[in-house]
Amino acid sequence: MAVDFGLQGQVAIVTGSTSGIGHALADAMAAQGVNIVLNGLGEMNAIERTRAEMAEKHGVEVLYHGADMTKPVEIADMVRAAKAEFGELDILVNNAGVQHVAPVDEFPDDKWDLIIAINLSSAFHAAKAAIPIMKEQGRGRIVNIASAHGLVASPYKSAYVAAKHGILGLTKTIALEVAQQGITCNAICPGFVKTPLVEAQIADQAKARGISEEAVMKDVILAAQPTKQFVTVEQLAGQLLYLVSDLGASANGAAFTVDGGWTAQ
Ligand code: NAD
Repeated sequence: MAVDFGLQGQVAIVTGSTSGIGHALADAMAAQGVNIVLNGLGEMNAIERTRAEMAEKHGVEVLYHGADMTKPVEIADMVRAAKAEFGELDILVNNAGVQHVAPVDEFPDDKWDLIIAINLSSAFHAAKAAIPIMKEQGRGRIVNIASAHGLVASPYKSAYVAAKHGILGLTKTIALEVAQQGITCNAICPGFVKTPLVEAQIADQAKARGISEEAVMKDVILAAQPTKQFVTVEQLAGQLLYLVSDLGASANGAAFTVDGGWTAQ
């Protein structure tokens, strides 16, 4: 990217960055000279390839930490490891997320618990560990990747919608608590982005609604998005870079929609 956001030498953790949006956000910050802690599930050889490629392409340090976002102790260890390795932690992007689609009266209890743990509680645990480091530095940026589903609902996504609404409340609360310490906390609310998470939903929605996958794409997913275009990861990266740079210093406790107009309806 040609624009210089003045982030050279900073350190960022991006949870769930082995795939999809998280990977793209980590890559966009690495391109700005930010050292990165990658996190997420996946096959170890593939993760190591991703890590090495990102480091080499952008000339920054890239570490991988395998913290499971359902495990508070591992999340705290990831934050500690970033600080121990780099001596600072400037940016925390809480991005890891999973989805399950089913009517409320059939929604599996274990899926509810998993989605709340990964999509909501992990952001609390990561912020809790990161904030003391950021306070000591007198600066920090926390960005939570919520969703248009943080602002509006869709049927069959009770746990996801509840978690994403919850993360907007968490975002506002953190923002108020740290506002005078050079730290900001904001949320980005993407519309539909074509990542593995959405590709899986196309199949799940087709099953839950009893319609074809083509019909889900046309009548369900892009029906919600007035532009009739998927949001791109580059567009989300642009929003993130603004928020984590000095330009974003007065953006605090806000939900930034990047949803093609979905929530304007
Ligand atoms: P994705 O499935 O491509 O990536 C999810 C990432 O989370 C992966 O790296 C995965 O390994 C990681 N993850 C899952 N469970 C984990 C666990 N227990 N511990 C650690 N990491 C774990 O999905 P995505 O579409 O890139 O979604 C990223 C975020 O963006 C999610 O929070 C999602 O809710 C949000 N979002 C996505 C869309 C979209 O249309 N794709 C829209 C709005 C919001």
